[in-house]
Amino acid sequence: MSTTQEPKEITQTSGSVIKQMSINNHEQVVFCNDNETGLKAIIAIHNTVLGPALGGTRMWAYNNEAEALNDVLRLSRGMTYKAAISGLNLGGGKAVIIGDSKKIKNEQLMRRFGKFVNSLGGKYITAEDVGIGTKDMEYVKMETNFVTGIPESMGGSGDPSPVTAFGVYMGMKASAKFAYGSDSLQGKKVFVQGIGHVGENLVDYLVKEGAIVSIFDINEERLVECANATGATIFKGNDVYESDMDIYAPCALGATLNTDSISKLKCSIIAGAANNQLEDEMLHGKMLLDKGIVWAPDFLINAGGLINVYSELNGYNREEAMNNAQKIYDLTGSILKTAQAENITTIVAAKNIAEKRIAEIGKMKLS
Ligand code: NAD
Repeated sequence: MSTTQEPKEITQTSGSVIKQMSINNHEQVVFCNDNETGLKAIIAIHNTVLGPALGGTRMWAYNNEAEALNDVLRLSRGMTYKAAISGLNLGGGKAVIIGDSKKIKNEQLMRRFGKFVNSLGGKYITAEDVGIGTKDMEYVKMETNFVTGIPESMGGSGDPSPVTAFGVYMGMKASAKFAYGSDSLQGKKVFVQGIGHVGENLVDYLVKEGAIVSIFDINEERLVECANATGATIFKGNDVYESDMDIYAPCALGATLNTDSISKLKCSIIAGAANNQLEDEMLHGKMLLDKGIVWAPDFLINAGGLINVYSELNGYNREEAMNNAQKIYDLTGSILKTAQAENITTIVAAKNIAEKRIAEIGKMKLS
């Protein structure tokens, strides 16, 4: 995966680690250090009621440990919701390695990290995230079996991004059905922000369906390549949020939905792959509701990648993974209808379903 994506979803916090863990009820946080390889990592396990905590490892040059801790706590919690709402028997976890992947990442460091993952005995299963690729997972695999997203040549499922893109496409179509009465995206003006691994696959689906697609990425080369390959138009304006669009698909950064951007957006639907799109879940979820913009919850419609690596745990089957990702269509439709009927935000409607499943399975396990 590309390393150009800045993990925006960071707000620095202070105070004791256990106090921070208790805010969202994290089960376990493991700090890993190895002077020999320079490895400094944090593994956060948010919830294991439904199963082992699965979530990728992000490598990023955080400014300080507090930033890294905050990022891993937020991301691991998101994984709990993603797995629960997708009906997977997985809990939520995530890991971060502190450092510039271009400078300090090597075989020794990744294998040492693999040993730490292994020491958790399967309570945490790792995968790729920003700054980490399938080659790195090969090194991790040398030290532990608790790893997914390994190359197809090694019996794994490879890059999960195409399945993620398909799930996002399904979520977008379901949102169109809800907002317009038809799920056809033909002639709809869709703006895709971020033409990375997921974005470029999404653009492909959209162009093939006859949507009018405009794209933007800070990586100029990638942008031109994607435009030439798909026929999408490169956005040339000053402010992407003010541009004329029916559907906004954030596929780059988190937190692009904030007070400033929402006040400018004129679209009717937001459906994209980026994690943690709402800068403030409650405040900005409500702003979208009040503006009448349909927001497809990110952890719901970008779950295709998780669905894909989950399939790898039981002997990878691409067709089964795609069929399961297709279910995002019905689920999105049902959550949008529930939110409307109960006059609640779509994020609250989605979280209610995820939390209910965790509570019910938890009770069943106890009994
Ligand atoms: P990626 O790193 O391959 O692509 C991200 C792209 O965004 C890059 O091309 C980058 O240049 C671009 N970008 C960065 N800042 C930008 C900006 N300010 N404006 C426009 N473009 C910018 O990542 P990806 O794998 O395609 O994932 C995209 C998003 O989806 C991420 O937020 C990721 O966390 C999320 N996600 C990905 C998967 C997956 O399977 N890959 C699964 C779930 C969620």
